[in-house]
Amino acid sequence: MIELSLSKKLIIKIGSSLIVDSSSSRLRINWLKSLAHDISKAKLRGTDVIIVSSGAIAIGRSILNLDNDNLSLEESQAAAAVGQIKLSRVYQEVLGPLGIVTAQVLLTLEDSENRRRYLNSRSTLNMLLSLKVTPIVNENDTVATDEIRFGDNDRLAARVAQMSSSDLLILLSDIDGLYDQNPHHSKTAKHIPLVTEINEEIMNMAGSSHYEYASGGMVTKLEAAKISSLSGCNLIICNGESEHPILELSKGKKHTIFKANETPLTARKKWIAAGLNILGKLIVDNGASTALKNGSSLLPAGVVKVEGIFEKGDLVEILDQNGNIIGSGPVSYTHLRAHETRGNLVCRLVREKK
Ligand code: GLU
Repeated sequence: MIELSLSKKLIIKIGSSLIVDSSSSRLRINWLKSLAHDISKAKLRGTDVIIVSSGAIAIGRSILNLDNDNLSLEESQAAAAVGQIKLSRVYQEVLGPLGIVTAQVLLTLEDSENRRRYLNSRSTLNMLLSLKVTPIVNENDTVATDEIRFGDNDRLAARVAQMSSSDLLILLSDIDGLYDQNPHHSKTAKHIPLVTEINEEIMNMAGSSHYEYASGGMVTKLEAAKISSLSGCNLIICNGESEHPILELSKGKKHTIFKANETPLTARKKWIAAGLNILGKLIVDNGASTALKNGSSLLPAGVVKVEGIFEKGDLVEILDQNGNIIGSGPVSYTHLRAHETRGNLVCRLVREKK
């Protein structure tokens, strides 16, 4: 059992189904007020809190009466643009009276995958926390396209936990944790209270649970748990539907906890290990391949071919001439410059092939 009061930096991720009532499409305002009280208590104890909240699309589609089951990308972007204003305002309305200042932070996948943008987002979050502000984070769905988007706030929340060096991430959901089988389909499904390693057996338990308003199922929650574990952050999945969800959890409400890796990687290695988007490939000669395996960085002369479209700071994969992956790392040049200079680029290998 995790002692919630010991957390110094806490991320609370809130799924759309908790913000919007699925039958009436109304905001669950009393629930939000109860959550605000829990957050205020945590802050009074000295815990920094970041909220990662879904709900923009669900709110927007109800305002716009978009009731078709599958929204097109453009409809989701429009719904998010309409819904996000209301989402931010409702947090301001429930937290403001408790003396909590809120800030809206909208991130895209590139803000976490490109090293320079990641560092930039990280300093904004840290500044907000040092000013005692509670950031309300969501994906910038209005500009996110199908190819470059998180699409679910579970992994976004894990990346935010990593950026802010948080020690606990709580995914408030409509399910009370991980089961060995889908509990909606099997009466004998067994709840798993503690996970110390996310191996194949655990991944196989995830299935593909989907709910009306949620984009992520158990699979994205396990992906999030992998990222946060590598970052030294514990992750809890619990059902947050009833009022005072954080207080209830601290009293022992059913949940699954994924324990953080006890020897977290350095900040730079954490970022690389959690990378979701490899944007290019560098094919290297035998000399460079041996040097990289011995821990050296990649020098220009070793690169024989460049594939893909990437910016400085993006993650690229490094392969030998037989197509074997040696590892990955952030690249120092854009693909254009890399091509212009005929492979004249340097890349520091940070993640070795597992
Ligand atoms: N960013 C989406 C929204 O605000 C939600 C993504 C998710 O359901 O995880 O509507």
